[in-house]
Amino acid sequence: MATVLHNLKHIQHEMNEACNLVERNPDEVRIIAVTKYVSTTRAQEAVDAGIIHLGENRDEGIVEKQSAINGEVAWHFIGTLQSRKVKNIIEKVDYIHSLDRLSLAKEIDKRATKKVKCFIQVNVSKEDSKHGMSEEEVIPFVESLQSFTNIEVVGLMTMAPHVDDEHTLRQCFKTLRNLKQRVQALSLPNCPCSELSMGMSNDYRIAIEEGATFVRLGTILVGNEE
Ligand SMILES: *Cc1c(COP(=O)(O)O)cnc(C)c1O
Repeated sequence: MATVLHNLKHIQHEMNEACNLVERNPDEVRIIAVTKYVSTTRAQEAVDAGIIHLGENRDEGIVEKQSAINGEVAWHFIGTLQSRKVKNIIEKVDYIHSLDRLSLAKEIDKRATKKVKCFIQVNVSKEDSKHGMSEEEVIPFVESLQSFTNIEVVGLMTMAPHVDDEHTLRQCFKTLRNLKQRVQALSLPNCPCSELSMGMSNDYRIAIEEGATFVRLGTILVGNEE
């Protein structure tokens, strides 16, 4: 069996177990194959295995993969996004996972020709190296977005700290879920905030137990060819 398909079967098994544990429907959890470390050939293998969400963290990556991949794919921009790069990706992506400041929101709103699905990136773990806004900033921020009609806040995204400690990881995901519920309860226009983008190769099972609706999987699914 091809590598990616083999990996996908294993991941789906793990996902089903995590869902069973907390009585979730596995259909609620979608896999984004993060292809930033791999060739277009490998990314195509993921699409051929049935993956429909692909994630990249550089504008060049999106452009290169998009021109070569065959199949219906939803494209996710998952990395730090410089405002000056927005124009390079805006027509090419379906989701942006890294909205973390007003200047970026302004640029997205200005360049977009249709509503763009955005996740607000939250730095729950407060690790300095991570991008994203602090928990406390999120509600004032979504309130400030109301005049930006091209931005739809579909959910919140976080990267958990680089630790093995399950309790710490779980706490991080729980915090994001609680915050999502608070934003959702505001019922703001263009802000359904029903999705949680959390969980990577080493922590996706915990993220799913804590409510992830999108997991972003690189190494464990498509490998690392760098
Ligand atoms: C690289 C990356 C991933 C995937 O990382 P793996 O640990 O290889 O699964 C997920 N999310 C973001 C934001 C990334 O930059």
